[in-house]
Amino acid sequence: LTTFTDDALIALDTLAGHATGLVNPTLRLGVTGLSRAGKTVFITSLVHNLLHGGRLPLFEAQKSGRIARAYMEHQPDDTVPRFLYEDHVAALLRRRIWPDSTRAISEMRLTIEYESASGWGRMFSPGRLALDIVDYPGEWLLDLPLLAKDFTQFSREAHELSALPVRSDLSAEWRALAANVDPDAPADEVAARELAEAFANYLRACKDDSRALSTLPPGRFLMPGDLEGSPALTFSPLPDLPDTKSKPGSLRAVMERRYEAYKTHVVRPFFREHVAKLDRQIVLIDAMQAINSGPDAVQDLERALTEILACFRQGRTGFLTGLVARKIDRILIAATKADHIHHESHDRLQAIVRRLAARAAERASLSGAEVEALAMAAIRATREGTVKHGSDSLPVIIGTPLAGETIDGETFDGETETAIFPGDLPASPDDLLASSNNQIRFVRFRPPKLEQTAEGVTLSLPHIRLDRAMQFLLGDRLA
Ligand code: GDP
Repeated sequence: LTTFTDDALIALDTLAGHATGLVNPTLRLGVTGLSRAGKTVFITSLVHNLLHGGRLPLFEAQKSGRIARAYMEHQPDDTVPRFLYEDHVAALLRRRIWPDSTRAISEMRLTIEYESASGWGRMFSPGRLALDIVDYPGEWLLDLPLLAKDFTQFSREAHELSALPVRSDLSAEWRALAANVDPDAPADEVAARELAEAFANYLRACKDDSRALSTLPPGRFLMPGDLEGSPALTFSPLPDLPDTKSKPGSLRAVMERRYEAYKTHVVRPFFREHVAKLDRQIVLIDAMQAINSGPDAVQDLERALTEILACFRQGRTGFLTGLVARKIDRILIAATKADHIHHESHDRLQAIVRRLAARAAERASLSGAEVEALAMAAIRATREGTVKHGSDSLPVIIGTPLAGETIDGETFDGETETAIFPGDLPASPDDLLASSNNQIRFVRFRPPKLEQTAEGVTLSLPHIRLDRAMQFLLGDRLA
């Protein structure tokens, strides 16, 4: 067995999975996206709406009353943390604050009992589908290309990217530090750690900066999960490495070894144990934030999306990717937070997302899986209205901006409901990349208040087009 390749092992696992899947139908849904894209909010709202019979007119099984009940069950994997659904709902509903975002992988199982739509299906009724939802940081996916790169190539590419105009100031400190080390000198742990920290600081700065740059690998430098501080995360690319082999005991040799350990002990197991087992995938993107930050950020988002989609590419020979993609038959690319703009702009946002997704899917040579793109809000924190402005009436959105948000010099206290004219998205997606003048007015709102019905029943979480997403991701499996 030791001669078995990863590919073969996964193929066996997958077969075994299919065999049990025939008896107990399960659907493993991966939910990913870069940090703050809206994964936690999406899963919480989807589960809440399923458990509480939410308003989901475009989710056919629900609309036609065929869902008998949905309930939580123990998840199948004992070594993966549970998605903290109950805590997230409590934050949203009791305290009206947004839940803690995804920091690592987690999962939960929901079982849906339904009546089949076809007479044939009803003979075996009630149907039962176990939906396993797996939440994981998109940053971790961006590590896949590292498997094909040695340390020298990784170092070269990382340095080239860091010197690009949009990143050069953020990376200056790290590059200055790196320029001063001698890769062939004997390894020194303090120097190695300093360099690794400066490198991680630069990656974090790219994420935090108002330019809204998306992420560069290694993904765990931003989202370490439980690996914080371990040697596998204490490395840094080195500048100007020649194509020669590293000298034993040198700084370069130590960095190289840690980089390889990162690939072997972190990246490969993640793909093999988690990504390879998914049936469907939703990739969330924060298009609003990127649009708000300008064309560079939009382009950068497209680049990150391309790299994420490349992980689900089919038929490429070589490591893992073929097997991963062979299983995933549907991928939804969704921009959440559409509740920040008026519904008149929803179709424009959707056109922009479609365009981004189509270009990214093409550049990633994605084929085989059915791909759909959508603009939605997993949780709708605003309502719509109009405000008279002279003889015109302006479409506005109304919500409670988070404490500390500002617009036109006014700072909000987190309690006051306010009407905001969010501005219009450009009519054509091309205009977005052409000019940086299309800033929409963007403030973050508090989660909505849920009203109770006269019977004291709490209603489900309001959303925009969440039902469309659910129909694409689950609909056919509940037919
Ligand atoms: P994650 O890092 O992908 O898990 O991101 P979260 O789900 O925690 O979302 C990050 C933040 O984006 C939240 O704290 C909210 O402020 C905001 N957000 C996410 N989804 C929505 C949405 O559907 N509507 C609104 N208004 N804000 C959202």
